[in-house]
Amino acid sequence: MSEYDYDFFVIGAGSGGVRASRMAASFGAKVAVAEAYRPGGTCVIRGCVPKKLMVYAAHFHEDFEDARGYGWSVPEAHFSWPKLIEAKDREIARLEGIYERLLANAGVTLLRGRAVVVDPHAVELDGRRITAKYILVATGGWPVRPEIPGAELGISSNEAFELKQLPRRVLMVGGGYIAVEFAGIFRGLGAEVTLSYRGSEILRGFDDDVRKHLRGEIEAKGIKVLLRNEITAIEKHGPGYRVRTSDVDITVDCDCVMFATGRLPNTAGLGLKAAGVELDENGAVVVDEHGRSSVASIFAVGDVTHRVQLTPVAIREGSAVANTLFNNRPTTVSHHNIPSAVFSQPPIGTVGDTEEQAIARYGRVEVYQATFRPMKHTLSGRAEKTYMKLVVEEKTQKVVGAHMVGPDAPEIIQGIGIAVVAGLTKQQFDDTVGIHPTAAEEFVTMREKVLRGF
Ligand code: NDP
Repeated sequence: MSEYDYDFFVIGAGSGGVRASRMAASFGAKVAVAEAYRPGGTCVIRGCVPKKLMVYAAHFHEDFEDARGYGWSVPEAHFSWPKLIEAKDREIARLEGIYERLLANAGVTLLRGRAVVVDPHAVELDGRRITAKYILVATGGWPVRPEIPGAELGISSNEAFELKQLPRRVLMVGGGYIAVEFAGIFRGLGAEVTLSYRGSEILRGFDDDVRKHLRGEIEAKGIKVLLRNEITAIEKHGPGYRVRTSDVDITVDCDCVMFATGRLPNTAGLGLKAAGVELDENGAVVVDEHGRSSVASIFAVGDVTHRVQLTPVAIREGSAVANTLFNNRPTTVSHHNIPSAVFSQPPIGTVGDTEEQAIARYGRVEVYQATFRPMKHTLSGRAEKTYMKLVVEEKTQKVVGAHMVGPDAPEIIQGIGIAVVAGLTKQQFDDTVGIHPTAAEEFVTMREKVLRGF
């Protein structure tokens, strides 16, 4: 009989926590997972999944228009926000049920409630003390907003999924993933959208050409982008809001201000500091390459570690901790060359180094680019252009970065990601026969290079 109630106590039934729990149980551990809200976590309940469903919804707007070029007579289409939210909620509830069943079938005990760490081997939940050999913190992150007068009048992505009505005029604050994705959703569904970003170009961290291209495309769809702009105050104004900005000449009147200004780790009130767990200045649990915190029996994975805030990364980290602790296989997760996507309209797919990162890392690089009108838009008449880029290290000829803005970019880059992670050369890309007619074939037919960093 073990001296602990459980071998593994996981706090948070999101992507990372659920994966770690199930795997640990499959290795024979006695596992419990505590969830204060709904199993599924950010990704399933108020993140990736509902967001993507809403991106699909928003895209129909253009699909109806494009159909005309193909001979369809499309009667005037009407959109119902409440119907979309209702359908989305049904799907999320279905997925939540699947998560619960996955845990039950794996033999993991799901405990409802908020667990607080009380010492290196114990948590408290609903006044009950529960002990465990190991504790995993997988509590995710939470949206933050700037401290400006009236900030409480705005919403975050959490509330965007629950709005009762589609706002007529939206001010999006921020220029990262969530800002760009939700700006596209609201615009596609018919709202007037203004995006205010404090920097000189949206999507800091992405390849500069990708950033520029996407901004051009979203502006062409009617999203007004304010650069080098910060909002300074929100006031009630008639039925909506009046927003002041750092540019005295720019005031925005709108019905909804949405903050997409980053997410911080959920560690407040978790008892971690008192238990001796080191947190960084963002409140993130500081972990080593195995996910171990400064307390040997406490681990952390996913957004709460504030490294890479992506579901598939949290899942890998969860799996690595389970393997390390219960499968006698110490496992680490590489954070290099992680493919990712922005579900903007059009979407972005990216893997590996941006041109700037590659120059900094390797010095001399070759850049291959293509900008073209997707075939579908010949008949639809839409002016939207696709952009693709390969970054090649000159010395080894390895493709170190692949970037795309255009329809299906996330689907295409997932495959290209395998080649980049495998370290394939430009010649090996060229040796691969293209699939015609596709946009993806451009990745194996780009021949004109530009030398950079020389
Ligand atoms: P991001 O970090 O991507 O973007 C935050 C944005 O807000 C940046 O443009 C940032 O500007 C700006 N910002 C931060 N603080 C302030 C401030 N005080 N005033 C004004 N602007 C500010 O965060 P998101 O909230 O968009 O998303 C959180 C994370 O979730 C992402 O980083 C991503 O990892 C993940 N995610 C992934 C998705 C996907 O895979 N498709 C989709 C959605 C989220 P600056 O650039 O100047 O710092």
